Amino acid sequence: MHRPVFRSVEMDDQRAPIVIVVLGPPGAGKGTQSSMLASLLGIPHISVGSLLRSYARDENEVGLCLRGVMALGNLVPDTLVLDVLATRISEPDCARGAILDGFPRTLGQVELFERGSLKSPCHSDSSTEKLVAIHLRVQNSTIVGRLSGRRICSRCSATYHLETHPPRVKGECDFDGSALTIREDDRKTTVLKRLRLYEQQTLPILSHYAERASLLEVDGEQPRENIAQEIVTAIQSMLRIFIPSPKNVQSTLEDNL
Ligand code: ADP
Repeated sequence: MHRPVFRSVEMDDQRAPIVIVVLGPPGAGKGTQSSMLASLLGIPHISVGSLLRSYARDENEVGLCLRGVMALGNLVPDTLVLDVLATRISEPDCARGAILDGFPRTLGQVELFERGSLKSPCHSDSSTEKLVAIHLRVQNSTIVGRLSGRRICSRCSATYHLETHPPRVKGECDFDGSALTIREDDRKTTVLKRLRLYEQQTLPILSHYAERASLLEVDGEQPRENIAQEIVTAIQSMLRIFIPSPKNVQSTLEDNL
């Protein structure tokens, strides 16, 4: 009988790059699970939203355009997203792959991605990357509750929740004491708009990945430790890799909070 060969992620430098795309509505927990996976797999976590927010701070035409689009909860044009992401992915730390948090969000982005518009070490001609798309499923009512209580450190972007993960001192970041703020696009009407856009633009992507048998559906309502464990177990078998984590999933999650 043929037995699958499980290759260790840490020891195999020759392996094909691993690309994990993490999909889910706003507030689904994509950031938390992406950082956990990045630590365990030893590849960078690229939050496309954070990347775009950093460009949005620039006092130039692109910054101005991004600030306008994002504050209203709209999607940034595909070509601009691809440009920003291509720049990030061409950095050497992405040679062995990356966790893409919040990308792709439209069928247009899927198409550009698959046509090779992200020229990078991950897309060298010699190796085809291994791809898994994770979908964190969460109900709309849960999302509104999660996002309305979300607070972000104005300096280091650490994330808190007023009820489920409050800071030690009210209104102050645990790490640097800076003021916590509400993200402009976390206000209720904007959240509802982001959810609508998610349903219209991003949900159709799921059937694309399901047809390629690379979709992992996860119940994002569970405690985050259970979600993380489920993802790690499934990814090992889908990618036929062994993740030799010296620490368990729980402590990796804590490290990344
Ligand atoms: P969330 O997943 O909660 O919407 P993000 O921080 O990932 O939060 O994204 C914030 C905003 O950044 C989005 O509302 C959108 O304006 C923009 N954005 C992020 N990723 C993309 C993408 N792949 N395509 C277009 N716009 C994006």
